[in-house]
Amino acid sequence: MVAGLDEKLEPIYQDVLRRNPGETEFHQAVHEVLETLGPVLVKYPEFAEHKIIQRICEPERQIIFRVPWQDDRGNTHINRAFRVEFNSALGPYKGGMRFHPSVYLGIIKFLGFEQIFKNGLTGLPIGGGKGGSDFDPKGRSDAEIMRFCQSMMTELYRHIGEYTDVPAGDIGVGQREIGYLFGQYKRITNRYESGVFTGKGLDWGGSRARREATGYGAVFFTQEMLQVRGDSLEGKTCVVSGSGNVAIYAIEKIHALGGRVIACSDSNGVIVDKNGLDLDLIKQIKEVERRRISAYAEERRDASYLPDGSIWTVPCEVALPCATQNELNGKDAATLVSQGCIAVAEGANMPTTPEGIKVFQESGIAFGPGKAANAGGVATSALEMQQNASRDSWSFEYTEERLREIMMNIHRDCHETAEEFGAPGNYVVGANTAGFLRVANAMVALGLV
Ligand code: NDP
Repeated sequence: MVAGLDEKLEPIYQDVLRRNPGETEFHQAVHEVLETLGPVLVKYPEFAEHKIIQRICEPERQIIFRVPWQDDRGNTHINRAFRVEFNSALGPYKGGMRFHPSVYLGIIKFLGFEQIFKNGLTGLPIGGGKGGSDFDPKGRSDAEIMRFCQSMMTELYRHIGEYTDVPAGDIGVGQREIGYLFGQYKRITNRYESGVFTGKGLDWGGSRARREATGYGAVFFTQEMLQVRGDSLEGKTCVVSGSGNVAIYAIEKIHALGGRVIACSDSNGVIVDKNGLDLDLIKQIKEVERRRISAYAEERRDASYLPDGSIWTVPCEVALPCATQNELNGKDAATLVSQGCIAVAEGANMPTTPEGIKVFQESGIAFGPGKAANAGGVATSALEMQQNASRDSWSFEYTEERLREIMMNIHRDCHETAEEFGAPGNYVVGANTAGFLRVANAMVALGLV
């Protein structure tokens, strides 16, 4: 018997373990969702009858392929790439591509599984999928990145399309990579099919506010959680892990709303600047020069750099993990709570371990899971698809306002659903249940496909 699972769900989870050996992150993501679905099956027995949970745990399609490419010195490299098309009940598969050496099938499946419920929560017509490769872009020249992306797309193009599967960015995949991938797709298919990729540049079909959307959205969600408790971000001391796309724009919005972010990180170390981080300097280091975050301390004497340090030891009132999965464990969570943290929102996907989540929930602080808190990125991707479909381009202000409304709706949905299912204030229950209901209802309606 697995702790925390309803008796109807336990055999389903055992089956997932048996059918997907060694995919520990996928197991973790499934367990975290199933743990909260017991009351849903009691209220809606038809989902058990239709075997919705078993079907939702099995991807509709999984593609694995070889990506051969040459580096600048003429050496040949072979990487492995994945696209997991998980669930298309609500719309075309939608989810980012990750380039990181840790990528294997279990990571892509965990991300794709999360994406199903997250996309359901947005209320927009997008199914769930995810992709990526174990390619490591660090230290590679633009030409090498381009050759890799072109080789990858030479296989991927046959599986994607604006009505089929619409990739976007994730760790290691930003606008540069999306440009090379989209360019090769356009060349092979001879179609300027803007809606096949999101996260594009503004001059070639992208949406304003897409780059900012995940970070801004996570902060809007945090602000909503605080508001329910009669509080706000104004004057709060915050820490944000990572210094990539999500982290940078989370910092930007926290500063705009009157909070002060004093620490961020990359995979080598942590920067602490008690005066509040200088975001222009971080953007210059990370977005323009593509250097390590340690460079910040070389430019700012008051800042300290902690190589291999943990950002969660830095005292704060609000914490946003925005780097990667399982970056915040039970011990980190206990440290944060004991030092006065009152709210945590996950900008990254599954950054908090199950032990960490337990600590946050038992302490009663506000905890916003990634499925809800970081849904602003994919929601704005769906807005990019809308603009592409109508050959239109919206203003920054309008797009950001749509994003803000979507995040407020997601927050309200999670909050009300948690209450309805007997777990007031529990956004994990709220997000899993509300996302699941939307997908499950569509799956029943579409029949056994
Ligand atoms: P980026 O590649 O832009 O940035 C990732 C950041 O996290 C970098 O600072 C990176 O440091 C750091 N990081 C990565 N791996 C580790 C690690 N193992 N330990 C410590 N730090 C690490 O990615 P994004 O900002 O796009 O993505 C961050 C998270 O947000 C991911 O979990 C992603 O799935 C999630 N997300 C992203 C969305 C988006 O729109 N981009 C949407 C929703 C969720 P370094 O440079 O040293 O590797």
